[in-house]
Amino acid sequence: MKLHTKIVLGLVLGAAAGIAANTLAAGALWVAWIGDNVAGPVGQIFLRMLLMTVIPLVFASITLGVAQLGDIRRVGRVGARTVVYFLLSTALSAIVGLTLVNLVRPGEGLAPDVREQLMATYRSQAEGMQAAGSTTFGIDLFVNIVPRNPVAAAAGLDMLGVIFFALVFGAALTMIPEEKARPMIRVLEALGEAIVKVIEIAMKLAPYGVFGLIFVVTSRFGWDLLRQLLAYVLVVLIGLFLYASVGLSALVRIFGGLNPLTFWKKAWTSVITGFSTSSSNATLPTNIAVAEKELKIPPKIAGFVLPLGATMNMNGTSLYEGVTVLFLAQVFGVDLSLGSQIIVVLLSVITAVGAAGVPGGSLPLIMVVLATVGVPPEAIAIILGVDRILDMCRTTLNVAGDLTAAAYVARTETDWDPRTVNRES
Ligand code: ASP
Repeated sequence: MKLHTKIVLGLVLGAAAGIAANTLAAGALWVAWIGDNVAGPVGQIFLRMLLMTVIPLVFASITLGVAQLGDIRRVGRVGARTVVYFLLSTALSAIVGLTLVNLVRPGEGLAPDVREQLMATYRSQAEGMQAAGSTTFGIDLFVNIVPRNPVAAAAGLDMLGVIFFALVFGAALTMIPEEKARPMIRVLEALGEAIVKVIEIAMKLAPYGVFGLIFVVTSRFGWDLLRQLLAYVLVVLIGLFLYASVGLSALVRIFGGLNPLTFWKKAWTSVITGFSTSSSNATLPTNIAVAEKELKIPPKIAGFVLPLGATMNMNGTSLYEGVTVLFLAQVFGVDLSLGSQIIVVLLSVITAVGAAGVPGGSLPLIMVVLATVGVPPEAIAIILGVDRILDMCRTTLNVAGDLTAAAYVARTETDWDPRTVNRES
């Protein structure tokens, strides 16, 4: 059986087992025990195996990407193309989300007693998040991208800091004499290859890991909550589905030259990994492998665009942010004018760029957006209970969006030919 069939099987069986345990043996101690001692740890080991590759992978691939692109002007051009694509596709997805939420207005139907009950249940969690994420919009956001100490940035999983250091380091390698740069480049190539092997080993665990991760979420999930917030959840899911099937498919067709069906088929392993880990960072290793092996994108482009995309490009997240902010505004009766909604789009884009690629990474930033448009930030408590499921779904679009960006940049900056990939399938 092929690995990705096994992973899908793990996902389906894990979800079925979790939902069965949740409905048939709700609250039973043995279900919790299995979650804590078997399924949870297996899932965590898989997640950690992937995460432990992220820092060396990002460092090696970005440095090599920059060094191999050769001259610094070319790096600038590729970088600018990449970032412009990120920003435009992220804005497009936020607009899709806002349009839907304006049409359906799910916030107006939420009963006040449900609202109070949810606020009461999740308030302390929301307040904890607000205290931890003291993010405000300001010049610091940019200053903080430059790390004081690259080792500390790596140790703290500060991806933007590591990326910044790698970009400068890679650029510097192109500026010193070639015979001096060569040994460093060879070391990084070896590092990159070894890490790819580690990822292959980790992916062997994927079917079990995915089973465990999904089992834990579904066996503990409050499905009743989903019913209470059904309109909101549906707007998010329909928005994500529309954006994937129409928006991203059109983008990958127009800008990447790929047949959308071929694209989704080839991107499948990334989609499943994103779904089960809820983390763009944890999916990055798989995403690079998929780009290089399945889509045949040149490593220097995949290694440059995808690590940037894992932190900066979050299409699913920005759609979700737009829907959530407006939904909560509706719940609290705050009427947002067209002008405020445009601000929501802009802030959704900025915060999607700033959010960390970890489960729930965007939540603290959504609180900042809420506060900016005059909705109490603690309102986020209302949706915390259903967030994990929505996080799984939005992360799949975040990682698929990165692949579309890599296809676009490869097509415009190298001799990569999407037709050979189209023909193959
Ligand atoms: N979990 C998302 C990701 O890693 C971030 C978020 O929307 O919370 O891409």
